[in-house]
Amino acid sequence: MTPITRDQFDDVMMPNYAPGKIIPVRGAGSHVWDQAGREYVDFAGGIAVNVLGHAHPALVEALTTQGQALWHLSNVMTNEPAIELARKLTELTFADKVFFCSSGAEANEAALKLARRHAFVHFGPDKHEIISTLGSFHGRTLFTVSVGGQAKYKEGFEPTPGGISHVPFNDLEALRGQISARTAAVILEPIQGEGGVTPATQAYLEGARQLCDEHNALLIFDEVQCGVGRTGKMYAYQQFGVIPDILSSAKALGGGFPIGAMLCTDAVAPSLAFGTHGSTYGGNPLACAVSLAVLDELTKPSVLDNVTHKAERFRAGLAAINAQFGLFQEVRGMGLLIGIELTPQWHGRAKDIVGAALEEGLMMLVAGPNVLRFAPSLIIPDADIDKGLAHLTAAIANLTGH
Ligand SMILES: *Cc1c(COP(=O)(O)O)cnc(C)c1O
Repeated sequence: MTPITRDQFDDVMMPNYAPGKIIPVRGAGSHVWDQAGREYVDFAGGIAVNVLGHAHPALVEALTTQGQALWHLSNVMTNEPAIELARKLTELTFADKVFFCSSGAEANEAALKLARRHAFVHFGPDKHEIISTLGSFHGRTLFTVSVGGQAKYKEGFEPTPGGISHVPFNDLEALRGQISARTAAVILEPIQGEGGVTPATQAYLEGARQLCDEHNALLIFDEVQCGVGRTGKMYAYQQFGVIPDILSSAKALGGGFPIGAMLCTDAVAPSLAFGTHGSTYGGNPLACAVSLAVLDELTKPSVLDNVTHKAERFRAGLAAINAQFGLFQEVRGMGLLIGIELTPQWHGRAKDIVGAALEEGLMMLVAGPNVLRFAPSLIIPDADIDKGLAHLTAAIANLTGH
């Protein structure tokens, strides 16, 4: 067999991605190794997915045990892991019912379809409008890019579905001005992730809840990125105490195995009646068994409690780096979803810093052109936090020449 190289990607893969020049082959905890055996500290977590790091023994165990028992059946039959996972999710959240799928976009697709259908069933076809926010990201299907508030993801794919509007995020008056009797749902990320790691304000989420109630509109929280322990609570809405009607979850839910879920209350669940929606892989026993293991680990007392402590360690380290170089304008986010906005002189250069960090042995992310992003494992050891931040320091020193 000829060795696999990065160049081969361009020969056989669609050009919609431009992966980095290394090829990782192995991971353990918060470390990854490439083909050359070079070690990297992982602050990216597979984009807020590997919530328990790489090759966590409990997840490997769940995967192999279920893999030897039963992989797949389709929804013509149910299975034990799916029911058990749904029960666990309803115990851990406001939700009464769960729909499983395989990704965040699909979880949002289900949420949005449920909201439209619920309005249709109870109020008729005129109540179909969806209000979203500028800067939001909800996935890459045609419906979810249409609802998402970033023009670049829609360009060239028009015409997009109608009945969708966008208002500025964290601007309650703008939402008040847009919502009406025709509104079926308002969809919000409690922390805008891709849009720059911007948390909603308490007043905004409370106000959105109230406006939805006044207009018989459903409130959807997209927690695909900020959910599953990332903020130190199982879901971010629990930090705010504002309860949605529908919540979408994915990314960290499977700890790296593809799974998504749409959670909702008993008041709205009946609107997705028999035959109205489906997904072949949704509720796949292998995915559900791994997800159950993720939730079992995360609900151990030490894990979520430690998120705040680890976040503080990151923030202290970032403050020290900024004292030296002064290129961070603001460090924001919640828990271990951390956004670092660069000063105006560095705007547009977040990617350069991520590239320089990779050279030093650190994997990290951007959130738009001006913001660096960390979404590490929630159980990253303190020593790895320090080591990764030292790599970042070296990368910035290289770029700035100090
Ligand atoms: C990543 C993300 C999605 C899309 O999830 P996929 O699994 O890539 O389809 C949707 N919403 C938010 C907030 C996300 O961060």
